[in-house]
Amino acid sequence: MNLEFTRKLAIPMEVKEMYPLTAAMARAFEERDVQLKNIMSGRDDRFLLIIGPCSADNIDSVLDYMTRLRAVQEKVADKLFIVPRCYTNKPRTTGKGYKGMLHQPDPEHKPDMFKGLIAIRELHMRVVQETGFTCADEMLYTENYKYLDDILGYVAVGARSVENQQHRLTSSGIEVPVGMKNPTSGDLSVMMNAITAAQSRHTFIYRGWEAHSQGNPYAHAILRGYVNKHGQTHPNYHFEDILLLHQLYEKQPELKNPAVVIDTNHSNSGKQYIEQIRIAKEIVHNRSLHPAVKTLVKGLMIESYIEDGCQPVGGGVYGQSITDPCLGWEKSEKLIYELAEMI
Ligand code: PEP
Ligand code: MN
Repeated sequence: MNLEFTRKLAIPMEVKEMYPLTAAMARAFEERDVQLKNIMSGRDDRFLLIIGPCSADNIDSVLDYMTRLRAVQEKVADKLFIVPRCYTNKPRTTGKGYKGMLHQPDPEHKPDMFKGLIAIRELHMRVVQETGFTCADEMLYTENYKYLDDILGYVAVGARSVENQQHRLTSSGIEVPVGMKNPTSGDLSVMMNAITAAQSRHTFIYRGWEAHSQGNPYAHAILRGYVNKHGQTHPNYHFEDILLLHQLYEKQPELKNPAVVIDTNHSNSGKQYIEQIRIAKEIVHNRSLHPAVKTLVKGLMIESYIEDGCQPVGGGVYGQSITDPCLGWEKSEKLIYELAEMI
């Protein structure tokens, strides 16, 4: 291989020994896991809001954001269950650019994978410690999931990974709810096949071991819009899209806990981040029009940070995204209260 191996990295067990969860953190994980599963199965009718920056690029601004979010969560606790996005590894369309805290703990410095592995565990731990929130992250690299499996409350398999067998098989061995995004091309059968695979038992190779999974009954759909062969974006959050997904679920009665989370940014907004306000309200309104839509749509995923929009790496604006454009804090806070009113 034309690869230079520079150093052997610590395995998940070693990193967990260096950075163990406290009893309070483990309790927060357990309690929130029960609540989220109750929501995903319909036993709890609160609405899920997975909200936060496209990428968790900076410890200070991410913790600042999460702390503000905690105060809002307290006020809407009877209506909304908030899971912050704390996305520490980013898929890139062409492979270029910032790949997340895992690669670059400091976005302006060169990649350091050892520091990155430590940084992402420390960040997730600090969020739980300081806010009580367990977060959502994308499982971009299946083998890295073990570094965070005791602390992540929600896992997303991204639009570029959802057709990959190792992502599907690994998801089948994950305890917490896993959201399968529709692929960038929009083919819903790819997403449904991913859910089917993740809900089933498998024997496969994981981190050098022969591993057996039990199947994940909380694997579900995430609609994120799509791009056609001309590179034009198309939304899939509309009423008809949800009914179509409902029909697909009806054709597979063996699937457990039918559910969808709708991503309001990415190809649903065409990255016009401000449109997330309208899209989120439209989806919540649509839930009130049809019982099947109401039961299927369990939540939203919103890209939100402290400042509106995005900037290039090194742009220097505190709390502004260096990946996808996000809705700023003031607008996000207002939106959360408005959604809670509508539920
Ligand atoms: C994201 O959630 O920031 C993301 C990259 O999503 P997707 O996989 O839908 O492009
Ligand atoms: Mn994004």
